[in-house]
Amino acid sequence: MVDPHQLFAHLLRQLYRQATPAFAVHCAHVALLAVYLWYELPLSIFLAWLGIVMSGGFWHWLASRRALRYLAVDALKGGSIMPDIIAAGAAGLGFGLTALLFPYLTLTTRLFVILMFGAVAAAALTRLSALPVVYAAFLFGIMAPLVSVLIVVDGEPGLDAIPAVLLMGVSLIYSSRRLHADLLDGLLSRFGLENAAGEDKLTHLANRRRFDIVLEQEWARARRSGLPISLIMVDVDFFKKFNDRYGHQEGDQCLAQVALALSQSVKRATDLVARYGGEEFVVLLSQTTRDDAYSLCERIRHAVESLNIPHQDSTLGLVTISLGGVTQYAREDVRAAELVRTADKALYRAKGTGRNKVVWYEPSLDGEGEQHD
Ligand code: GH3
Ligand code: MG
Ligand code: MG
Repeated sequence: MVDPHQLFAHLLRQLYRQATPAFAVHCAHVALLAVYLWYELPLSIFLAWLGIVMSGGFWHWLASRRALRYLAVDALKGGSIMPDIIAAGAAGLGFGLTALLFPYLTLTTRLFVILMFGAVAAAALTRLSALPVVYAAFLFGIMAPLVSVLIVVDGEPGLDAIPAVLLMGVSLIYSSRRLHADLLDGLLSRFGLENAAGEDKLTHLANRRRFDIVLEQEWARARRSGLPISLIMVDVDFFKKFNDRYGHQEGDQCLAQVALALSQSVKRATDLVARYGGEEFVVLLSQTTRDDAYSLCERIRHAVESLNIPHQDSTLGLVTISLGGVTQYAREDVRAAELVRTADKALYRAKGTGRNKVVWYEPSLDGEGEQHD
């Protein structure tokens, strides 16, 4: 499953990647236009034009900085993309308004301006196509004043040029949609591969690598939200003896069944069940209090017992699990790995006090379990 927020964050990052070089390209385009216009415009109008076209580009650059700062803090950029659309529209309009100066310009300069519009629109294509609606706003900003001027203003180029201008616009919109589709394909297949690499082959649960990544993300989220986060470590009891008696293949099947029981016991989409390694599993519950996490533990323990997998060398005659849990409020000065360490201490206590039970972490357990593998 691809997380739509994550996908959106990637698209926004693509949209604003290399914002500063893009602003430099903007300045180069303006400089080239300025050389032509300088000779044909009165100074006041020239300066007004320069102010407008530079503010449009600058606004867009500022929007990029703001968005990238946002994305660095939280991939889930809140709110709509309206500011991005408006900033891109303003940047396009900065250029597009140059067409209003046509009455002052010679035919050669007018044609040059139209050519530059094409260059500006093409240069923005790869970046802004990440969100086609943003590119469309940029292109509209450039094209709308041009088309209006071609209709209204006397002289060449006139109405005859409109089909060519419109064709240019339509082609660019088409290209931006194609680029967007390619970008999406690339991102989706990358996420797909990452997902495949994050899955444990035997149990189809998330693997250790994926768990480590999600744990860091959820820990950071818990720090921001101030809500509690719970972690449960699960270990199959006397599993070495199970393997010894029934064989490794039976052991594998047993693990797959236990994994299924675990994943069926959790209810919320944000809960993560992962294979931590060997016959150990972890359940990560974001925004979950101790009481809720504890009752989930009992549910999981019961679910595994109810699988009724015979295990002659276990005290109960059945395959059972021991669980160690911890609930914490994330703090700046505590690392996410601490959650695993404390849950492991609770698990060690569960093992030491009879197995097939749930133990919750409390500070008095510190000092125990250091030698536990
Ligand atoms: P305890 O109740 O203290 O947890 O005892 P245990 O025997 O379960 O613990 P121990 O850590 O001594 O043994 C774990 C065993 O799990 C050893 C190993 O052979 C087995 N194991 C680990 N990974 C796999 C696997 O992928 N498949 C199978 N079949 N067995 C595995
Ligand atoms: Mg173990
Ligand atoms: Mg075990």
